[in-house]
Order: sequence, then C-alpha cells, then structure tokens
Amino acid sequence: MMTSSLRLLKEPNVVVLAAGHGGGAPGAVHSDDQGRRYQESKQAITITDQIATALKERGVDVVVVPHALDYVASIKWVNDRYAFGKAWVIEIHRDSAAGLSLDDASRRFGVYYGNSEGSKAIGKFLRDSFKSHGANERTWAKPHTDSNYGKLAWIADTKPLAHLLELGFMQGKNDDEHLTRLATITAAAIYEAFTGNSF
Ligand SMILES: [Zn+2]
Repeated sequence: MMTSSLRLLKEPNVVVLAAGHGGGAPGAVHSDDQGRRYQESKQAITITDQIATALKERGVDVVVVPHALDYVASIKWVNDRYAFGKAWVIEIHRDSAAGLSLDDASRRFGVYYGNSEGSKAIGKFLRDSFKSHGANERTWAKPHTDSNYGKLAWIADTKPLAHLLELGFMQGKNDDEHLTRLATITAAAIYEAFTGNSF
C-alpha cells in the first residue's frame, strides 16, 4: 500500500463524507419529460452512501456525517470532531443548469477547492482522476471563491482540509444505474488521491 503523493493528504487517516443539503433542504429539483421529479438532496444521500461503501471495501477509513443534519450543523459536527490534518472532508452535490448537452449534464463533474496551493493540487488531481474513470472532458476544478455564492461554507468554515464535488447535473440522467456510475467514478478518484494506489 502506497501513501498519497499529495502533501495535504499524507497526514489525514480518515475520509469524512457529507451529502449536500440535508436536514430536509431539497437542493436542486428537476422534473423530466415523463413528469418524474428528482431531488438533489436525496440523490446526494444515495451517492454518498455508495461512495462510502466502495471506499470501505478497499480498506479506507470512512465516516459519513449524519444525513439528518443541515449544512450548518454538518460543519459544526465536523469541527467538533476533527482538527486540521486529522481528516479530509468532502461534500457531495449534484449541479443544476439549463441548456447543457445530455452528455455534459450527465457526465461533467466539478471540484471546488480551498485557498491553499495544497488544496488546489488535490482539486486538480481529482479532476484528472474523474476524467480517467469516465467523467467528461469538460470536467473542471476551481477555487470555491469562484462559485456563484462567492465562497462555500463547507470549504471556508470547516477546520480540516475540505473539498466540494458537483457530480453531474439534475438535467442529465437520473436513473439508479447512472447514480451508481457517478458514485463509482467518485470513489475511484477519492481512493487514488487518498492512498496513492490505482482504483
Ligand atoms: Zn447542491
């Protein structure tokens, strides 16, 4: 077993996953042509739990933030338990936008990283690993201060190293098989970043 080549991932020995939104907040919602209605927060829980299972199967220590907590309580829950260097905390989202091709909507991933060069290096590693495992070529990594919200609390306010992932768009595919594919791609990238091994 190797260890991560990424400086800020050498010390943490646990991956903490949180499903975006939570505590009953729906996040993005989308209705398809057949009138089926999809809710980001529910999909994020499904995907987060599948990522956790895949990582645990490969021997990674994973903790999932309780899904009942809203985003403010999730940050407090993390900060009550983990100092900087003790964990890598990752929040899982789906994105929403009009006018995308089906491929972009289904397979374009995004990574938001923090202010440090070390966090940026991990963001770019994740971006490249996502692409190598099936995310589309327009998958991106950018600083959280470039988000529509100015900054992201999950990254700005958590004590440990934090990233926020956008796994495709609600306007893309939404079937169970697709959500599992998103989870597998994500687990592979997290595993490769965290352990230095190939998935
Ligand atoms: Zn979201």
